[in-house]
Amino acid sequence: MAAALHARRLGLDVVVREPRSGPIDKACGEGLMPGAVAELAALDVHPAGRALVGIRYLDGTSPEGATATFRAGPGRGVRRTVLHEALAERMQGAGVPVERRPVEDVRDAGDHVLVDGEPARYLVAADGLHSPVRRLLGLDTPPPGRQRFGLRCHVEQQPWTSHVEVHWSPRAEAYVTPVAEDLVGVAVLVDKGARFDDVLDDFPLLRERLTGPRSRVMGAGPLRQQARARAAGRVLLAGDAGGYVDALTGEGIALGLAQARAAVACVAADRPEDYDRQARRLAFRHELLTHLLLRATTHARVRRLLVPAARRAPWLFSAAVDQLARPIEVPA
Ligand SMILES: Cc1cc2nc3c(=O)[nH]c(=O)nc-3n(C[C@H](O)[C@H](O)[C@H](O)COP(=O)(O)OP(=O)(O)OC[C@H]3O[C@@H](n4cnc5c(N)ncnc54)[C@H](O)[C@@H]3O)c2cc1C
Repeated sequence: MAAALHARRLGLDVVVREPRSGPIDKACGEGLMPGAVAELAALDVHPAGRALVGIRYLDGTSPEGATATFRAGPGRGVRRTVLHEALAERMQGAGVPVERRPVEDVRDAGDHVLVDGEPARYLVAADGLHSPVRRLLGLDTPPPGRQRFGLRCHVEQQPWTSHVEVHWSPRAEAYVTPVAEDLVGVAVLVDKGARFDDVLDDFPLLRERLTGPRSRVMGAGPLRQQARARAAGRVLLAGDAGGYVDALTGEGIALGLAQARAAVACVAADRPEDYDRQARRLAFRHELLTHLLLRATTHARVRRLLVPAARRAPWLFSAAVDQLARPIEVPA
């Protein structure tokens, strides 16, 4: 939807293909980093939610944990359904047509692309973690390493924090994001086969905090996905479709929005060949930090030492959070 809005702004004819009817929900931590809030505001999209002032790491040993404040301004906790509605409303205002069917066939025809037999100059595929278009183009590569999954539910109660709380246990993390006056999101990142309730037992302090009625649990994964390239001819992969490392650092939406902007700039300039490099550059900082943290935290000892270390070196913790939170510049 963000790509469609950018395209419309540049005067391009655009149509969105989406098989599901909205508002679409998804297993997500629902924390918009400051960069995502800025990308959306630039599109005049202002979804309602709860301001997020920073990140707090907790491990159950101290109630205050380690805290880093977003220096680039606040982020926002926003329900996915609210985000979808805000984008859909802007699309309607911009007159972007939506066809309620999936893309099932993509063929390169040299100076255009055939999408289910219909000609288009370009296709921006933002079709998610398990991108069917990535698979159709033969760009899928088996991701190396450990496979993790995300599980998320909502608890109806007043938020107790204006930070994204990340609770660490020896085997999992739980993310707490306030998303409305009376709603708190809880997402856990786990290895295959873990059940939400069992994992929550790892976090007695958090479990105690969760007093309201709970929604059903939604899941996503495996999280690690890899594309050989983020473009093939006139097809450009944006967001999770172009590959994903892990939700550990919670910046997927900001990155997807920045890549949508870059993809449309390449399309408008008739230079699709520039996109792969640009998309990689946009993702580099986030992917590197996520890889490093993911790799380090496979070791139980590092997991135990992480929160105390962040407390002892707050400048380092703040610098890392800042790298993730600051707006993403699209390369020229
Ligand atoms: C547990 C978890 C927690 C997370 N927490 C955060 C967080 O706090 N903050 C953050 O920024 N990110 C977070 N992320 C990452 C974030 O959810 C994703 O990076 C983001 O949603 C990617 O957006 P996208 O548009 O690329 O894909 P999606 O949001 O998955 O959208 C893909 C769309 O493509 C459609 N589609 C599928 N197939 C087709 C087809 N064949 N034709 C047409 N359309 C199709 C789908 O219906 C869907 O609407 C988290 C992820 C997980 C799993």
